Amino acid sequence: MRPETVIIVGAGPAGIRAAMVLAEHGIRPVVLDEAPMSGGQIFRRQPQGFTRSYAKLYGYEARRAEALHTAFDALGPRIDYRPGALVWNVEGRRLQVLRDGVNETLAFDRLLFATGAMDRVIPFPGWTTPGVYTLGGAQVALKHQACAIGRRVVFFGSSPLLPLVALQYAAAGVAVAGVFDTTPRRAKIAALPGVLAGGTTGLKGLSYLARLALKGIRYHHGITPVAAIGDRTVTGFAYLDAGGRQHETACDAVAFGYGIKSEWQLADLAGCRFAFDADTHQWRVETDAEGRSSVEGIYLAGDGARIAGADVAAETGERAARAILADTGGPDQGAALSTIARRLARHAGLRQAIDRAFPFPAHLAREIPDDCILCRCEAVRAGEFRAAIAALGPDEVNRAKAFSRVGMGRCQGRVCGPAAAEILATELGRPVSEAGRLRSQPPVKPIPIAAFQESKGDAA
Ligand SMILES: Cc1cc2nc3c(=O)[nH]c(=O)nc-3n(C[C@H](O)[C@H](O)[C@H](O)COP(=O)(O)OP(=O)(O)OC[C@H]3O[C@@H](n4cnc5c(N)ncnc54)[C@H](O)[C@@H]3O)c2cc1C
Repeated sequence: MRPETVIIVGAGPAGIRAAMVLAEHGIRPVVLDEAPMSGGQIFRRQPQGFTRSYAKLYGYEARRAEALHTAFDALGPRIDYRPGALVWNVEGRRLQVLRDGVNETLAFDRLLFATGAMDRVIPFPGWTTPGVYTLGGAQVALKHQACAIGRRVVFFGSSPLLPLVALQYAAAGVAVAGVFDTTPRRAKIAALPGVLAGGTTGLKGLSYLARLALKGIRYHHGITPVAAIGDRTVTGFAYLDAGGRQHETACDAVAFGYGIKSEWQLADLAGCRFAFDADTHQWRVETDAEGRSSVEGIYLAGDGARIAGADVAAETGERAARAILADTGGPDQGAALSTIARRLARHAGLRQAIDRAFPFPAHLAREIPDDCILCRCEAVRAGEFRAAIAALGPDEVNRAKAFSRVGMGRCQGRVCGPAAAEILATELGRPVSEAGRLRSQPPVKPIPIAAFQESKGDAA
């Protein structure tokens, strides 16, 4: 095997499994993760000094969480693990990494992006009011820091996280004011056979609904969000029911979201090719059947490549690691890759059913009212965005960004981008795939200006 520097970005299920496979074969990868501890999103660990048990923290997933943490810790010196390391740029075969306030440039021969996903939102009136969180953010507060976002919380959106996070809050003793799903009941029923065919994972999802019902928590279908009510902080949630009648529910916090979206900004900076996935209304990095991107030596695995959950993330992490072994002159991986392909095929049906049960309600993005903030970083309202489109005629989102500042702030459009593209596509009368996608810019996440200047000094 050729000696090569292999870097893995992300220490969630995908990155961890990849590191294990590489270490087993004598490769010592550098594993970078901006989080202070390994585990990724679903198996996020609690901070030092917190003493909740695995059963309390991870529920049904306790055994898997413990197994993953133990396996990663056992890797010890066989990997070069660097927690708290934010990768903020890719230039050619070099990464820019910020760790403990110090900027570093790391060269690589092979690079695996296992960067996971983030919440996908659709702005709605009042979404910037204090007390409004994403579903993932609400879960992180509870799982990581044992904090609830409020005492009486409304959960809404269209996401597998919706029943799960509501149930986790209820189990933690928080009053759940209601769970409001934008998906009509008939779509849920249509997805049911696929969910049931998904075995224990599908049944686990259904059990969340049953457990909410047992706790007396109502699950509403087919709602339309109207507004988070309140000036200085949230005091209620207004929505239309499936029949179009308006209601208000009192609460002191709201958690909402529409599934999750892949974190692919680094792959974009590396020059990887993308394709639009019409089923999930998301851009994805193109890969071959083993996780190789269009750029030689760059691989993807896990939710960063395609949203499919932790089991698939681990399998695709192993698959990418085996592709790296094969590409660096290692032993033949054909048999192992075929086994992984068979295991992955078993997950495909359930994933489709989940996507049908929790579809992205693109119409809500297209219909965002004019006076609603669209880009919260730059405080641009949807009406201002529409006016810029009408006046200046951009024909894709990057031009629209330049004309309106939507997507130009701290989050680089990671939050408002999908909704902005839906609005632009509607104004142009074209499918959203033709509105394009916001090009990523370094730094992919906010960093101190000094680190940026330092990196320019490195390059000089
Ligand atoms: C907020 C949130 C909550 C979730 N909760 C659940 C749940 O309760 N149950 C469930 O079944 N699924 C949940 N999911 C989905 C589930 O987490 C994923 O399917 C699974 O964790 C995917 O594994 P992964 O290894 O691909 O990515 P992840 O587990 O997301 O790991 C990716 C890792 O990459 C790191 N990273 C990303 N960008 C950078 C960068 N630029 N520099 C350095 N490090 C970086 C992150 O810190 C993270 O540790 C959640 C997803 C999100 C986004």
